[in-house]
Amino acid sequence: MKPARALQWPPLFLFLLSITLYASSGRSDDNAENATFLTAEERAWILEHPILRIAPAPNFPPIEFFDKQGQHQGITADFFKIIEKKTGLQFKVEQLESWAHVLVKTKQKEIDLWGEAARTEKREQYMLFTSPYLSFPAAIINRQGESNHLTLDDLTNLYVVSIDGYASHEYLKTNHPDIKLITTPNIKAGLKMVSFGLADAIVVNTAPASYYIQKIGLSNLQIAGQSTFSWSLAIASRKDWPILNSILQKTLDSISDTKKEKIITKWISLDKQAFVEKRSFWLIIALITAIAIVCMAIVLLWNFSLRKMVHKKTLELHGELERRREAEEALKSSEERLNNFFDASFEGLFLHDKGKILDINPATTEIFGYKAEELLNHNLLEFVSPDRRQNITELMATGEPGTYETTVIKSDGKPIPVAVRARTIETETKEKIRIVSLSDISKHKQAEAALKKAYDNLDHIVIMRTSELEKANERLTELDQLKSMFIASMSHELRTPLNSIVGFTGIILDGMSGDISKQQRDQLTRVYSSAKHLLSLITDIIDISKIEAGHTDVYPESFILDELINEALQTTQPHREKKGLALDSNIPSGIQMYTDKKRLLQCLLNYLSNAIKYTEYGKIEIKANDLDGHVEIIVKDSGIGIDDEALTRLFQPFERIDTHLRIKTPGTGLGLYLCKKITVEILKGSVAVESEFKNGSTFSLKIPKKLTHKKPWPH
Ligand code: ADP
Repeated sequence: MKPARALQWPPLFLFLLSITLYASSGRSDDNAENATFLTAEERAWILEHPILRIAPAPNFPPIEFFDKQGQHQGITADFFKIIEKKTGLQFKVEQLESWAHVLVKTKQKEIDLWGEAARTEKREQYMLFTSPYLSFPAAIINRQGESNHLTLDDLTNLYVVSIDGYASHEYLKTNHPDIKLITTPNIKAGLKMVSFGLADAIVVNTAPASYYIQKIGLSNLQIAGQSTFSWSLAIASRKDWPILNSILQKTLDSISDTKKEKIITKWISLDKQAFVEKRSFWLIIALITAIAIVCMAIVLLWNFSLRKMVHKKTLELHGELERRREAEEALKSSEERLNNFFDASFEGLFLHDKGKILDINPATTEIFGYKAEELLNHNLLEFVSPDRRQNITELMATGEPGTYETTVIKSDGKPIPVAVRARTIETETKEKIRIVSLSDISKHKQAEAALKKAYDNLDHIVIMRTSELEKANERLTELDQLKSMFIASMSHELRTPLNSIVGFTGIILDGMSGDISKQQRDQLTRVYSSAKHLLSLITDIIDISKIEAGHTDVYPESFILDELINEALQTTQPHREKKGLALDSNIPSGIQMYTDKKRLLQCLLNYLSNAIKYTEYGKIEIKANDLDGHVEIIVKDSGIGIDDEALTRLFQPFERIDTHLRIKTPGTGLGLYLCKKITVEILKGSVAVESEFKNGSTFSLKIPKKLTHKKPWPH
């Protein structure tokens, strides 16, 4: 980076302007007021067109501009005055807003000529140019402290101001497309943009640039380089009037070099701008030194803050540009994504406005079987089954989101069921349109129908099987009853011979039939005990069968409970005493009962005989609790007890718990099962058990004191 260089305006100005006065090929005689340098035809033309319309560049001082009174001033204005004088033409001046306006009005033939213009290809399409009478180089101006010695190539990718409609703008656009051009309507605005950091540089004519820089006081600017482009200014006039161009060219040629130089130095002479009055050399030196110091301090301070501001603004601008670029890219990519989704969707998607199809995706064309152009701009109702059109029209009219099924007609005329979802969306331009998704549900419908058929069939099968099962169940119940009835009816036939065996074996063992040997006694004892076991087993089975077949006779009768319990204790006493077990009985006396006494006795005997069987030492306890309307009888022992797992299996048929007493203790495993059946089904009570392994058991039953029995029991 080269060191910052303040703009040395007077010498630089002189250097850069380097005004070239083109050698006049015409006569040096400028007193020829009678226009003898023109042909007769040209003079005649002037008589026919005495007044011509000109629109000077409004802000191009010192070349041309309007002063505070709205008068056309500058180099061009002076040249026009001479032309008027030399030719007799009169120029009617029109003040327009900008050079761009001048161009527009000229093209509309409302302006006839320009006092200064650079020749460009575009302009040559509608204007004719005289040879140039002034030339100014174009300068590159940027901020002090930034690079200098620049060429236009160094401005690539930088933000550079150029003036709308100016030849330089056209030149930069064509020859340096990589420069990021920012257009402004005039030079003043452009210079300010560079000064405030809103642009990196400006390419501008040195003459008006220096004029404005001094006038506005933009002291942070510098001339950073000269462009290859230069303004060669000529007078331009309407292309359809070539004779006018000839008149102007001849008139310009007729102006002497001295006169031309006088005009130019009048407007851009350095002497006139000099502020130094040659009064006191030392005073001036002192003043200049003081002013220079103060100015330098101010400029330094101002430059410093300006540079900071410029840097900040540049960063902000770059950030903003970057953000905009990113946002644009994000928008573009999201639009692309959306389009891809739209096209790639397996579901049909389309947009419509009051039925008119606006856009569709490929899946929609597949569903309908039409090409996209056969669907677009058509009314969607054309493709809906006639009987559903009314319905769809009503749904569209509501504008509400909707999900429904309908039938559409394919291109081959085949109706197909479709599932539809539709809702209203708002476009960027705030128009309301409907977006619709639809999917072909033919296969789904077929599967649904097949499923329904299968369900119907299944129902039928279930009904049939249920009826078959019911019949089988009835048959089984019948068979079960038959079995129970058979066993019950066999009671007599089975028990009579067994009773004989038990009875006669007992007589023989008692010696009533004479002496028997020891061996005979042993064998007969076994016969006797086996026959008794069989008799007890048959008795239990018959009892259970009778109960299950509903053939039990119930005989309620009045009795006193303690009497019945004493009877049971007496019956079991020999066995208990044989095992040396104590008895603890606690029965409230006089509890009046009305129930089936024999069945209750049967249960108590079972509880007591089990307690004795499964207790090796200790005692048996029996007690009764007189409860309200019920009586509870409890048989407790200090026997082997039952573990938790085995407890759950008690009261089941043929369930004998595996203990060390099982083999030596006779039993059928039916006693508790029968006991529960009697208590629950005949005596209308309940049974319960509590036990602790190796620590004794407690069996209880609870029955109503008074049995209300509906007679007769079914037979
Ligand atoms: P069993 O004729 O075998 O005694 P039960 O139905 O009367 O048939 O009893 C079933 C099983 O319950 C018996 O085999 C025995 O294992 C167990 N049991 C019954 N009462 C008691 C008790 N008081 N103490 C321990 N175990 C008992």
